[in-house]
Amino acid sequence: MTQNGIHTEDTTDGERVELNPVFARPGEATSLPKFHFPDDESLPETAYQIVHDESMLDGNARLNLATFVGTWMDDHASKLYLEAADKNMIDKDEYPQTAEIETRCWRMLAELWHAPSAEGAIGTSTIGSSEACMLGGLALKRRWQHARRAAGLSTERPNIVLSSAVQVCWEKFCNYFEVEPRYVPISEEHKVLDGDGLDAYVDENTIGVVAILGVTYTGMYEPVERIAAALDDIQERTGLDVRIHVDGASGAMIAPFLQPELSWDFRIERVASINTSGHKYGLVYPGLGWVVWRDVASLPEDLVFRVRYLGGDMPTFALNFSRPGAQVLLQYYMFLRLGRSGYTAVQRASRDVALYLSDAIGRMPEFELWNDGSDIPVFAWRLREGHTTNWNLYHLSDRLRMKGWLVPAYPMPDELTNITVQRIVVRSGFSHDLAGSFLDDLRAEVDYLDALDGPLPAETQHGGFHH
Ligand SMILES: *Cc1c(COP(=O)(O)O)cnc(C)c1O
Repeated sequence: MTQNGIHTEDTTDGERVELNPVFARPGEATSLPKFHFPDDESLPETAYQIVHDESMLDGNARLNLATFVGTWMDDHASKLYLEAADKNMIDKDEYPQTAEIETRCWRMLAELWHAPSAEGAIGTSTIGSSEACMLGGLALKRRWQHARRAAGLSTERPNIVLSSAVQVCWEKFCNYFEVEPRYVPISEEHKVLDGDGLDAYVDENTIGVVAILGVTYTGMYEPVERIAAALDDIQERTGLDVRIHVDGASGAMIAPFLQPELSWDFRIERVASINTSGHKYGLVYPGLGWVVWRDVASLPEDLVFRVRYLGGDMPTFALNFSRPGAQVLLQYYMFLRLGRSGYTAVQRASRDVALYLSDAIGRMPEFELWNDGSDIPVFAWRLREGHTTNWNLYHLSDRLRMKGWLVPAYPMPDELTNITVQRIVVRSGFSHDLAGSFLDDLRAEVDYLDALDGPLPAETQHGGFHH
């Protein structure tokens, strides 16, 4: 029995994992405690079988249209992963080659993102975009503090300007590092942060503006160039020099291949830093992010720690200490394996499927597209106004789940919380074939719902969906 998270009994049903008799060995216990540290050993086969069977209850990754995160790599990657499973990214002294490869990777990214000089840039791997965003935000904050102190001004009330549709990691950044978030609400006219009315938010305490390349809610790009132009304007009028961090968790690994002409990166001088998730469209298994600063001057020196490295020292800037090094090697493998043309082909295939799906869904009379997946291969739609009061997208999401498809429905952020959308993230491995099967199931479920002769009961609470 659980009371306030404390287990008060250990024999109640549901407190133990049962072992299928097929796997039980003579003399071995046939059940193990779920929440208590086991008293005795079990055979590796037994422990394996239990963990293996329990994790089977997780969703099927191939049918998961909710996540951005890579769920498939080829056999060579799997082999490398196993070989490198023991590497610790922080042990630069013990694993100097992994450290070297990490440097090669972020230099490649600096070049891909048009840093003025890839050698003059600085970057690091992280555990994901969340950590990378924290580091980007911290650098903006420290740079602002230095400038304020140098001018004899207060550093009491830093703020950061961002869209109300930012990923939750930015809310965490503001909370953990005590920076006031100034959310610019999106609207039907301004579906993304686009620089419009920015001067109402920016002041002398603004450490920076976040621009999202691939908004998590919808997949849309924020026009970094227009945001930068609005900030140029502000600088001209007020003298405030506010820099941009681009959160390219998904888009920074799409735009260089699918929209090479789009200027969103270090080509814009105001862009100080960019992050991406190696484990999203970088095509690596979970546990990898990247952040790159346009030049060494953009990362205040007093944030950087020095670790011993082959007799010399190695700069590090990270929230974690130990962390897996294998993902960095996997990223390097993918860069070598695919190159520009390979990444272009893979991302284009995903976008083709996204456009195929959004076209089909947009033509269904029940729905209205929010966007079509031509930025990153992600798009959202809503129920057409006036179509029905018998069901909503949450019901449809539940119906699709019965067929194994995970397609979340959720409210839009402030100030559009009255609008519910449903979103599909197309990733490598979601083929035209699978997309066709999905459309069949979608149509069947919509027909089922439309045939209801009365309204389905509405839930008063929807489980929180975290993007
Ligand atoms: C996914 C995402 C994040 C967080 O990335 P993780 O790699 O999951 O930590 C941050 N920003 C945006 C825009 C995202 O889509």
